[in-house]
Amino acid sequence: MIYLDNNATTQPTALVVEAMLPYLTECYFNASASTAAFTGADKPRLKAAAAMAKLLNAEEPDCFSFTSGATESNNWVFSSLARGRKDGRVLISTVEHASVDEPAAELARIGFEVIEVPVDVHGVVRLDAMRDALREDTALISIMAANNETGVLQPVAEIGRLIREVCPAALFHTDATQAVGKIPVDLQCEWQDVDLLSFSAHKFHGPKGVGGLYIRPGFELEPMILGGGQENGLRSGTTNTPALAGLASAASEAHDFNPQAMCALRDTFEALLQDELPEAVIHSRSVPRLPNTSYFSLPGMLGEQLIGALATSGIIVGTGAACSAGAIHSSKTLRSMGVAHDMAVGGLRVSLSRYSTIQELTEFIVQLTSATLTQRS
Ligand code: PMP
Repeated sequence: MIYLDNNATTQPTALVVEAMLPYLTECYFNASASTAAFTGADKPRLKAAAAMAKLLNAEEPDCFSFTSGATESNNWVFSSLARGRKDGRVLISTVEHASVDEPAAELARIGFEVIEVPVDVHGVVRLDAMRDALREDTALISIMAANNETGVLQPVAEIGRLIREVCPAALFHTDATQAVGKIPVDLQCEWQDVDLLSFSAHKFHGPKGVGGLYIRPGFELEPMILGGGQENGLRSGTTNTPALAGLASAASEAHDFNPQAMCALRDTFEALLQDELPEAVIHSRSVPRLPNTSYFSLPGMLGEQLIGALATSGIIVGTGAACSAGAIHSSKTLRSMGVAHDMAVGGLRVSLSRYSTIQELTEFIVQLTSATLTQRS
């Protein structure tokens, strides 16, 4: 199989699997037991926190609370706000993931004023609109670091500076699920104004079902899950030691990863694609993007049909368009960018991993060309 859908999930590395195994076999003990330091069950969490602090240059390992993944972390940010107050202004962008959109909609239902800040034609959050929407009493701003479809990098540092200028007390959250492990992140330098950051291990070659939330020292959130008091009382539930061992290993490997070669491979792919299929329109090509993501549309084609045809030839890619109740819906991201419907439904996303090769990408182009000929005939 040729797997080119790594923004959906990635393959755990051999080191990740190796790191997890002892905690599924001989060291299956409870990390919260008073004997944890003797059994070694306390190690995965300690290692995961230290590796995340190093990867994101956070102040200290204690800044991290571990969760089941970014969906939970994102929900936590919004539910914590709703526990402390019943109204206020919340800003998100028009291209957020559903795990931000839905909790924001829930806040709107209970009385918060939720504003969706638009993006420009390239999918970048408009700083002028952001400045207009910010008020002195804004409670929360949640803007993703990198878009899961286009790979567009949002101007997190600039947004942070704007927030500190207009409403210094507001909480600034970024859903960095697609950014962590793919681009350098520095929470004490460029991203020093970010207060809360969500991440997920399975997007950077770690296991599924584990991720976390960075909480800047000095900020307090309401607990996410009540119970036995794990995660410093913020997120109860028996510590998932195998998953945290995997996360620790994935974060360490990501720290040593250099995205340059991946970026060059993506650029070579896009050049080859345009040679073979000149009608392909590559979205957001002129703005900063993740090094692994290429999102393009083939006019007159249906992305859903193409991914089906490609899957039967053993090639897995993504599309933002979805078919439900007999109608084809284009991706919200492309709609927000003003991409016409017939173009947006022909969207395909190729997202590379550290293991992707030029041979795989060349084969993809061959199979895609043949699938477009079949669809046209
Ligand atoms: N945010 C973004 C931008 C994502 O791409 C995803 C995963 N598709 C999530 C949040 C949810 O992550 P998880 O699978 O860890 O719940």
